[in-house]
Formats: sequence, C-alpha cells, structure tokens
Amino acid sequence: MKKQGLLLILSGPSGSGKGTIVEQLKAKDDFALSISATTRAPREYEQDGVHYFFRTREEFEKMIANQELLEWAEFCGNCYGTPRAYVTEQLQKGQNVILEIEVQGALQVKKLYPEGVLIFLVPPNLEELGRRLTNRGTEDKETINRRIHRALEEMEYVQDYDYVVINDTVPQATQDILDIVHAESMRCSRN
Ligand code: 5GP
Repeated sequence: MKKQGLLLILSGPSGSGKGTIVEQLKAKDDFALSISATTRAPREYEQDGVHYFFRTREEFEKMIANQELLEWAEFCGNCYGTPRAYVTEQLQKGQNVILEIEVQGALQVKKLYPEGVLIFLVPPNLEELGRRLTNRGTEDKETINRRIHRALEEMEYVQDYDYVVINDTVPQATQDILDIVHAESMRCSRN
C-alpha cells in the first residue's frame, strides 16, 4: 500500500510571515496547499479559488452542516475552514499537504490526524510583528490592533505544537521547516 502523505499544519500570528514561507516551501518541495473557505471579504489582490474560496456566512454554514469541512474556526469576526475532500484525497495519493490555519483549527486537525505535524511560526519579536502588519497595508488600524491582540493570545498555544520556528529570515525559516519535514518523513512509525 502506498504511504500516506505528510500533513503539515502551519500556524502563527498574522504578520509572522506564514504566507511567504508557504510560497517558499511550495517552490522548494512538492507540497499541495489546501485552499480554505472563508467569510472574510477578499483583499484587493485576492482571487476566489486561488487564495480562498470566498463564501457568504450562509454558504459557510451549509458547508459545516454538510460536513464538508475538516475543521473550522472563527478568527477576528470571520469564519475560516479547511475543505475536507481535497486534503483526504491528496494524503491518500501519498502527497504531502500544507494547511496554513490558526490555532483552534490546528488543534482540531491534530485530533483527527495525530500523525500531522504542527509547526508554529513566530516573528523574531513583537515590534517586528506590528511593523509587518502595518507595512503590508491590507488592513485598517482597528483590524491591525485586533490582530496584534489575537497574536498575543495565540502565542499561549505554542506549547501544544510539535515545533516552533522563528521567522528571523525567510530562507532560514524555510530551511528549518524543510528539515523538520525531512526528519518526520523518516520516522519509524511512518514506514
Ligand atoms: P487572513 O484573514 O489573514 O487571511 O487569515 C486569518 C487567519 O486565519 C490566519 O491565521 C490564517 O492562518 C487562518 N486561516 C486561514 N484559513 C484557515 C482555515 O481553513 N481554518 C482555520 N482554522 N484558520 C484559517
């Protein structure tokens, strides 16, 4: 029987650089990235079906009722969830999959997939986090403040993760994650 793919669950506060790291991981290794559903409004550059599946709250609730989501959570007033079918199909094919999701969802997935690898990405310090959120210019001041507040709350979940990676520089953090994936794929329990 073919070995299942590795499920990598990457979390970290807004501004920790998760999006950039995921792009780098995809460029350097063969990962399938799960596209989430969300009720959040698209940012200017975001496209439906590429960055997210943008859904109304009603549509999102239907997805929950139909058990189409592997996990879902509310984050800063919006709902986010991982479509179940894509993840299970890819893993069964032996494909490694990345979920880029917040902490409540990550812990739900770990219960369903105990062999999934939880990685928490942190910025080098809080000032850097605020600076990154402000510089990317996609949120207003109130949203940035809410996200910084939520970032502090999320940091308390670090101990529930398998690994913590500090995103001081993107190449180093990317390499650290690739090293984790490499080691995890050689675990005796996965053979
Ligand atoms: P953003 O609005 O910045 O795109 O995402 C806000 C937060 O939602 C981020 O921490 C992101 O990782 C998380 N997120 C994105 N997709 C999902 C998902 O499918 N499920 C959960 N639980 N969180 C998600």
